[in-house]
Amino acid sequence: MSRPEPPPEPGAEPRAADFIRARIAADVAAGKHGGRVHTRFPPEPNGYLHIGHAKSIVLNFSVADEFAGVCNLRFDDTNPTKEEVEYEEAIQEDVRWLGYDWDARLFFASDYFEKLYELAQGLIRKRLAYVDSLSADEIREHRGTLTEPGRESRYRDRGVEENLDLFERMRAGEFPDGAHVLRARIDMASPNLNMRDPTLYRIRRTRHHRTGADWVIYPMYDYTHPISDALEGITHSLCTLEFEDHRPLYDWVLEHVDLECRPQQIEFARLRLTYTVTSKRKLLHLVREGLVSGWDDPRMPTLRGLKRRGVTPQAIREFCERVGVAKRDSTVDVAQFEFSVREDLNRHAPRAMAVLHPMRVVLTNYPEDRVEQIEAVNNPEDPSQGTRLVPFSRVLYLERDDYRDDPPPKWFRLAPGREVRLRYAYLITCREVVRDERGEIVELRCTYDPDTRGGNAPDGRRVRGTLHWVSAAHAERAEVRLYDRLFLRENPDAADEGQDFLAHLNPQSLEVLRDCRIEPALGIAAVGERFQFERLGYFCVDPARSAEGWPVFNRTVTLRDSWAKIERAVTDRSART
Ligand code: ATP
Ligand code: MG
Repeated sequence: MSRPEPPPEPGAEPRAADFIRARIAADVAAGKHGGRVHTRFPPEPNGYLHIGHAKSIVLNFSVADEFAGVCNLRFDDTNPTKEEVEYEEAIQEDVRWLGYDWDARLFFASDYFEKLYELAQGLIRKRLAYVDSLSADEIREHRGTLTEPGRESRYRDRGVEENLDLFERMRAGEFPDGAHVLRARIDMASPNLNMRDPTLYRIRRTRHHRTGADWVIYPMYDYTHPISDALEGITHSLCTLEFEDHRPLYDWVLEHVDLECRPQQIEFARLRLTYTVTSKRKLLHLVREGLVSGWDDPRMPTLRGLKRRGVTPQAIREFCERVGVAKRDSTVDVAQFEFSVREDLNRHAPRAMAVLHPMRVVLTNYPEDRVEQIEAVNNPEDPSQGTRLVPFSRVLYLERDDYRDDPPPKWFRLAPGREVRLRYAYLITCREVVRDERGEIVELRCTYDPDTRGGNAPDGRRVRGTLHWVSAAHAERAEVRLYDRLFLRENPDAADEGQDFLAHLNPQSLEVLRDCRIEPALGIAAVGERFQFERLGYFCVDPARSAEGWPVFNRTVTLRDSWAKIERAVTDRSART
């Protein structure tokens, strides 16, 4: 597992070109494709996009952009059983949200069904494809293994006319599913299993969400993809490493179907994150079983989930660029992703004060009816965000955790007799703790020093702690949802000890706080607005309101990486194997 790399210094030299960019630059320099660069992002519309897809999107669109080229969005919709319009619409929205635009270049592999069929007939005429009537089991048995060559089907030498006739009748719906397949006629002894007469078409008597009942035979991915690329004039077809062994087939198809354009397939490593699953099948399972609230649950690694959680598209793009592309699979620490999220929000999110676990604090020497408007800085990282006024009065709410009866060493918050600074306001000293009969704190009674407005003492006495607060009479109520990692294990996919990924779900990944108090300005924040709650982290307004009608805030990420610290402590104690 790779540890987070330190971020590049601002103003540092741009990263050296990675192997993909180097390869494309060489092709451009050599005048291949007339110097044109054209990429595509080819999702299968069978689920929502996730952080792994973001890597592919960012790569394809930014490479095209860097070389003054363009990138297509193409739905790889050749499998009629799993695909839905709902996903197609969501994918388009999510790619746009991420900041990319395909203009009018939206394509569907299913639009090429007729062309793909004609080209397959061409392969049959060249004796490079044949209809095989072995059963699926027999085909599997004939395939051989990594160490043994495969065996040729007894149908392999069918004549061209018979093949054309059967293929046409397959299309016409004369045969049930599985009765025949169309296979490429390549080499059953090839050391590469993908080249052992791969299936090009199979019968699936299923409606397709775009072509309806027009087709009952559907082309396979390995046949469809290179042809779709060539038809669209794609110059560089970037895909993930598991397709490396399929490249000879990609090239074989293009060599024999007589299309002019010859795209180059280049493979890169998938993005994998610790504590995260990105398999669409597994994500779907979480949704279907109600283990999360939906595809947009803020704990999901989907782009929808990340958006609802408050992650910005910029942060995702930065992260993907920062991780870069590699030729070998590796897993990136999710802390590195959180670092990018935090860094972006730190620059842009306005600050605000919110109290998650309210404790009443009365300033006994502050006049009952007085209200002051205290000026607070919106973003110390960005003076252009200006200031705002926050009401201050005699009764405040402070964070329950900011008081201890019996403080440990280096406690710079409240305790009996201790003085602290209220952010932007005054120094206050704790004089008395009022408790109920059960010993729970009802309120703290404190005094404020009227000469310390703004937070500094004229006598120069040093007060280390600064606490956030809201005025009780002015604060609004809110629900706040705190999220933690959805999985407890670094690699939830590891199928060891007979457990599957669900065994590693974090039962405490969501904590709902229903009695929070927020400064008045936050009460009118719009859905999706992001803030730094001082001292607490980054939060974003959820689309839904709470049952009581209060705004709901999702915690995007804490201010510092508290998890890394905990983990380090654990690692120090028991060296992991
Ligand atoms: P799954 O295995 O979950 O079904 P997939 O790879 O089949 O995912 P597609 O919709 O086919 O999903 O993916 C569209 C594009 O995104 C493909 O080019 C694929 O290689 C790329 N992609 C998918 N997951 C990742 C990932 N984790 N990292 C980088 N690229 C990815
Ligand atoms: Mg796929």
